[in-house]
Amino acid sequence: MKKALIFVEAKDGKLKKGSLEALSLVQSGGFETVACALGTGADQLSGELSKWGVTKLYHCSDAKTDSFNPEIYQAVLQEAISKEQPSVMIASSNSHARDIFPRLAAKNDMAYMSDLTDVNLEQDLFKRPMYAGKCNAHVSFLGDSAKIILLRPNQIAVVDATGSSSVEAIAVALPETSGANETTAVEAGQSEKLDLTEADKIVSGGRGLKEAENFKLLEELAAPMNATVGAYRAVVDLGWVPHSLQVGQTGKTVAPSLYIAAGISGAIQHLAGMSGSKNIVAINKDDKAPIFQKSTYGIVGDLFEVVPKLTEKLKSTL
Ligand code: FAD
Repeated sequence: MKKALIFVEAKDGKLKKGSLEALSLVQSGGFETVACALGTGADQLSGELSKWGVTKLYHCSDAKTDSFNPEIYQAVLQEAISKEQPSVMIASSNSHARDIFPRLAAKNDMAYMSDLTDVNLEQDLFKRPMYAGKCNAHVSFLGDSAKIILLRPNQIAVVDATGSSSVEAIAVALPETSGANETTAVEAGQSEKLDLTEADKIVSGGRGLKEAENFKLLEELAAPMNATVGAYRAVVDLGWVPHSLQVGQTGKTVAPSLYIAAGISGAIQHLAGMSGSKNIVAINKDDKAPIFQKSTYGIVGDLFEVVPKLTEKLKSTL
């Protein structure tokens, strides 16, 4: 039987959505599934992983692994690869994964693809956006070496987990490091909402809001839907909102089920980060704004009138 090794990430004992997407991919492919996790509580994930048919969990739950350290992460994953020799390794395509997995691919002579938006493991067919989302490449691996694939978040459907496997938990000792990498401090983000890359609903705005204080209009619209607020680069550059909220080519790539773009014209660099959204609602007073060509629903109007009306409607219906 082919073997899949999934790098899983969790928060407060719950698997992150990106990890659920990776686990979903191998549910119907006839794989033996093995997982690897780091961070405090990684050793407690067996219960969750059992539902996904995972048979072994390699874990390193030393508190030192709570902060990302590429040397440590790479060494723990290497131990799982060496012992299991998976035919495919899958992880969510975030900045940590893009740091460690190319090194692991080179070290283990594995083929590597990142940022995949569609995956057919059986037919060895994959899709990845190119040129800031202007086109998609349909790609396959040459040869039959083992593969590492990284999935762009929010693109793969999460299936119901119905398994109840017995999970062998294998502790990996904290590896020695050169000391060349160390996280000295972690600053919590300002928002308590879900990170943009994991959010299922996003409300974004820009300079059309006229001043930083008016972002509260978007927060009020986001609240009844439990959405996360995002922004475009110009207002990040103006210091109205932190860079962690920037969507786009030099910000975050998002793919929520709903993206509301209020006062955003649809510059290509912004579209690069959000055009994978399932439903785009554009609010713009200029009926020629390019965002309308990408949107599922368009509202031509002044956001100062439209947004409060939408908020009221949502409050009364949700
Ligand atoms: P604006 O020019 O501010 O347009 C505002 C829009 O709001 C207009 O369409 C206007 O009609 C509408 N509007 C104004 N007032 C109202 C109102 N009251 N009601 C309704 N509508 C209203 N941008 C990103 O977002 N993310 C990136 O990662 C990014 N990376 C970049 C990288 C590079 C190398 C470069 C060169 C640029 C990058 N940009 C990025 C910037 C990008 O090109 C745009 O400048 C930016 O996205 C703002 O675009 P905009 O046209 O929507 O803004």
